[in-house]
Amino acid sequence: TEPSLAKDNDVKNGESFKGHGMLAPFTAGWQTTDLHPLVIEKSEGSYVYDINGKKYLDALAGLWATSLGGSEPRLVDAAIAQLKKLPFYHSFWNRTTKPSLDLAKELLEMFTARKMAKAFFVNSGSEANDTQVKLVWYYNNALGRPNKKKFIARAKSYHGSTLIAASLSGLPALHQKFDLPAPFVLHTDCPHYWRYHLPGETEEEFSTRLANNLEQLILKEGPETIAAFIAEPVMGAGGVMLPPATYFEKVQAVVKKYDILFIADEVICAFGRLGTMFGCDKYNINPDLVSLAKALSSSYLPIGAVLVSPEVSEVIHAQSNKLGIFSHGFTYSGHPTSCAVALETLKIYKERNIVDQVNKIAPRFQDGVKAYSDSPIIGEIRGTGLILGTEFTDNKSPNDPFPPEWGKFNTQFFIYAFVKHRIGAYFGAQCEKHGMLVRVSGDNILMSPPYIISPGEVDELISKYGKALKDTE
Ligand code: PLP
Repeated sequence: TEPSLAKDNDVKNGESFKGHGMLAPFTAGWQTTDLHPLVIEKSEGSYVYDINGKKYLDALAGLWATSLGGSEPRLVDAAIAQLKKLPFYHSFWNRTTKPSLDLAKELLEMFTARKMAKAFFVNSGSEANDTQVKLVWYYNNALGRPNKKKFIARAKSYHGSTLIAASLSGLPALHQKFDLPAPFVLHTDCPHYWRYHLPGETEEEFSTRLANNLEQLILKEGPETIAAFIAEPVMGAGGVMLPPATYFEKVQAVVKKYDILFIADEVICAFGRLGTMFGCDKYNINPDLVSLAKALSSSYLPIGAVLVSPEVSEVIHAQSNKLGIFSHGFTYSGHPTSCAVALETLKIYKERNIVDQVNKIAPRFQDGVKAYSDSPIIGEIRGTGLILGTEFTDNKSPNDPFPPEWGKFNTQFFIYAFVKHRIGAYFGAQCEKHGMLVRVSGDNILMSPPYIISPGEVDELISKYGKALKDTE
């Protein structure tokens, strides 16, 4: 398990949440028995407050999620108005609601990297990616290609944690002891240039090599067996890794050559995060299918979507006519209240020119944090727009990771005084001490502040990062 330095967050009025009743996601058992969880109680703009009133700058926007910060009244009002009018109705059997129809129309208009024909609504990024696999299989069955079923994803990718989404993900921790990945999923190279390039290899040469490896994998398996390739425009949870120059151009040429569908997992990248409305816009990706969630509703209510190209949707349409029904959907597909909040979120993005807003604040954030690149414990700081990752390594080399039991003792929290920790976890704990929440992923620290972060708050983020770094060095 990932060691953690989560603070022994004592709670007020003697109330203890140690050994609480949740089987907590992405948490080790000992963390729930030995530590109090950090209980977040309130949010305000770019900040959250814990149950003891301690204020934290939310440098990850929840989980790359609350793009409009934690107190946007228009989203609350949109939810209340819809709840009063029609809290719920489903979208099965050609019954539906106005907010879901409006949201589908809006999304199809907004996505301009290419024309998309349909939007299918889900409740999360994982459900979006599960749906992708079902759509692709249904599509290939309709085309009489029952063997074209395998998926290629990339090492270190994150696509969610349901059975299929975890299988697609290229993070071993998601597979271990869950009997995953499923056999129809193959993984190809992680396009992290700094870590994996050969001596003297340029970014373009690196991209060529990776595209060649992808092609070799396809040929080895048989192109007639490969259905789709899935990729995040910028890899998020695996460590904020940007595609090297010409990577997507080359990879798209390969998948196109073998009639393999391209799925863009935009769950983190969409709606301005990278300084473009979609990640596909930034990297000239021409996808067949797109997964959306998170910033779609600024995460005030759960909702995700799959966008489907005209070519794929025509085949699905015809097949459903043949079978009598398209048998896929969730009770909450197109939940009207979630859709109403998403519609208001998209309206705010437009009104406030969210892409411009992100591009205006991004240099202050990127340059400010990257100014720490000289630190002897930092290997690489990388990012674009309002997403950024820091990788800790020794000797500034990708080949010298700090040992998992990194030699800095934590003297701050009494019970763990004699436990050694991974450097990333230690840095994350120092951030928490200084009143800032970041994401720890191995020896990476990941940040994606809300789009509403002010210049002053960016300066505060940089200063807190600097303090945590000083404590860690
Ligand atoms: N895809 C990507 C790229 C993600 O980053 C995530 C979550 O972080 C998911 C899918 C899964 O989304 P969810 O947690 O909503 O199921």
